[in-house]
Amino acid sequence: MQTFQERTCPLALVVDDEPQMRMLICAMLEQSGHEVCEAENGQQALERFAERRPDIVLMDIIMPGMDGFTACSRLRGLMGGSRVPILVMTGLDDIESIAKAYELGATDFITKPFNLTILSHRVRYMLRGSFTMDALLKSEVRLGLAQRIAKIGTWEWRPDTKQFTASAEFCRLMGIRSQDFAGTFDAYIQQVHAEDRNRVEQALKGILTKRVPCDIDHRLILPNGADFTVNLQAEAVFDDQMKALSIVGTAQDITDRKQSEREIHRLAYFDSLTGLPNRVLFKDRVEQALLHAHRYRTTMAMLFLDLDRFKVINDTLGHNIGDLLLKSVADRLAESVRHSDSVSRSIDKEENHSLARLGGDEFTVLLTNLCDAQDAGKVARRIVEALVKPFSIEGREIFVTVSIGIAIFPSDGDSVDTLLKNADCAMYHAKEEGRNNFQFYSSTLNAAASERLALEGELRHAVEREEFVVHYQPKIDLRTGGIIGAEALVRWQHPQRGLMQPAEFLPAAVDTGLIRAIDEWVLRTACRHNQAWQHRGKMPVSISINVSNSLFHGNTLLSAVEQALSQTGLTPACLELELTESIAMRNVEASIVMLTDLKSMGVQLCIDDFGTGYSSLSYLQRLPIDMVKIDQSFIREILTQAQPAPIVRAIIAMAHSLNLVVLAEGVEQEAQRTLLLEEGCDQAQGYLFGQPMPEHAFAKLLQPVPLRKAS
Ligand code: C2E
Ligand code: MG
Ligand code: MG
Repeated sequence: MQTFQERTCPLALVVDDEPQMRMLICAMLEQSGHEVCEAENGQQALERFAERRPDIVLMDIIMPGMDGFTACSRLRGLMGGSRVPILVMTGLDDIESIAKAYELGATDFITKPFNLTILSHRVRYMLRGSFTMDALLKSEVRLGLAQRIAKIGTWEWRPDTKQFTASAEFCRLMGIRSQDFAGTFDAYIQQVHAEDRNRVEQALKGILTKRVPCDIDHRLILPNGADFTVNLQAEAVFDDQMKALSIVGTAQDITDRKQSEREIHRLAYFDSLTGLPNRVLFKDRVEQALLHAHRYRTTMAMLFLDLDRFKVINDTLGHNIGDLLLKSVADRLAESVRHSDSVSRSIDKEENHSLARLGGDEFTVLLTNLCDAQDAGKVARRIVEALVKPFSIEGREIFVTVSIGIAIFPSDGDSVDTLLKNADCAMYHAKEEGRNNFQFYSSTLNAAASERLALEGELRHAVEREEFVVHYQPKIDLRTGGIIGAEALVRWQHPQRGLMQPAEFLPAAVDTGLIRAIDEWVLRTACRHNQAWQHRGKMPVSISINVSNSLFHGNTLLSAVEQALSQTGLTPACLELELTESIAMRNVEASIVMLTDLKSMGVQLCIDDFGTGYSSLSYLQRLPIDMVKIDQSFIREILTQAQPAPIVRAIIAMAHSLNLVVLAEGVEQEAQRTLLLEEGCDQAQGYLFGQPMPEHAFAKLLQPVPLRKAS
């Protein structure tokens, strides 16, 4: 069996019971370039059709056996019979039988008798129509296939009628069946991701108003909630008067393209071994950070890291192990750098660091928004310490150390290249200094860093050797002028440097975590002293202790207080704990629990440096405290203003309304005392009444308990 494509000329099946008629028709058709086959009744016609699959059928109606009507309708049900053109030849030119023929599947009719030339023209015309239809159908199938392969859907929107026609593929992209698509613009817009809707509408409407074609990417939401990106292209179709008739467009699924774009981006900007930003991205980020730092005059640091003797590891253990080690090192670096955000204050809530691998065993870290250049040293130290623990690579323990160079913006350079060059130079200095350390590019910063390092070492010894002393500063009842207690303030009796003030060593104590041990020592000592004064017959006073963040939010405070009280036998009411607002606010719920526990032990609680932190009044109300200490900065202001500082007045009023005792810190002059008394402040502390002093000096100020007269 041949189909039209394989046949050189079209094949016609001529069905007629009259042999002469058949002969005539066949001769005419052959002459006009057709191939023919014949049948003398309906039944035979069906068989011929099945055998030869003709391109057209000419069918007589009245025949013995199966007539033309029946043959026509049966033929339509045969394989390949649904679309073949059937020309019905009828002597019955009555309307009814023509209508019946059409109903049963005839394509056209011609009434007998007919002109043979006209018949051949009719046949040719019908064949042309049929072939065109065939080609169109095939092309539609091909287009549909192409659309599916390319994942391109087509659509047309008629803004006047709001009608929106979507091709089968576009419906498939939207995840709905063609028959379920409502066919309106709104129905389409509903499928667009809510965040993209406005943009899509603007772009499509812009085609009409601004007459610009649209080419945008937007997300489509599938019925299951998943989304994916399509590229939408559209143009307007105008009529002769340049009035827009409709907007036609395509929508192409570009998920894969987006994916490859991401992949290309990853390859271009990230190191494939560690997944860290590479040199290109790092430099780009530094450029950005420099613009910001220039504008806001902030400090930033560039750290240049180079692993020590990495080449030896690589050469002896192989590149495979070397690669795995670099990956693990990168992870550990990322971990230790992430914690560095606590040392640098964030202005814009963005990350303040950026870690990158420049290549080989070289890494860089950018620290932005630094409060102090020395903070970069802290981060560098943390990195050096993070590498102390050995790495376990394929069951092998490997030790690596790192040398770090630090360059600071703006002092050590104001461009990416200079900063990198100087950090690199400082890194070589670190190698010269015996590796496994960090060096600043600037010598003054280096001196300060090593000074600090030395101090921390000495501080460790000081804790072991208990080189601290407690000084006491009297607290006064403003109304009576009498001493009601003292604040315990720590000093370090340094063997070489002499007596050191808290400002000189507390920051190092906080950084090293030694502060907690120091606080606990002060607590024990102050309780012991206070109890000793009472034993020596002095009036009982309250002693206040400063509680650091690490002591307050650690888990030893309760037991430390309990022990100090039980070991010395001091009445809990004679012990007061001072903590700043920021300590209490760091974790309000936990603070409330801790303060409530302390309160139930009977100790007094006080908020120190009040007014300088970020305390919220609603929280303050929930804290079970007894007293607030107005920060000295406000007390200092009292003198510079004719009126008592309104803030002092407000704090006193607020504290009193919460039934809290108010103490003013840093009272140095008589004028301050008078004003505070007038404003109703309860207590005061300051040089006016006494500087912090050694234990024995303070003990002398305490009044003896009046001897009871013998009755
Ligand atoms: P603070 O708790 O606010 O202590 C008051 C500070 O003000 C003390 O400084 C005190 O000497 C000083 N001061 C008192 N009266 C006056 C005055 O009239 N004028 C001026 N200008 N200053 C006055 P110090 O002893 O240097 O302590 C500073 C800070 O160190 C304390 O501030 C406290 O936050 C902390 N600190 C002191 N001892 C300890 C301690 O044992 N543990 C903890 N965690 N922190 C402590
Ligand atoms: Mg204090
Ligand atoms: Mg204070």
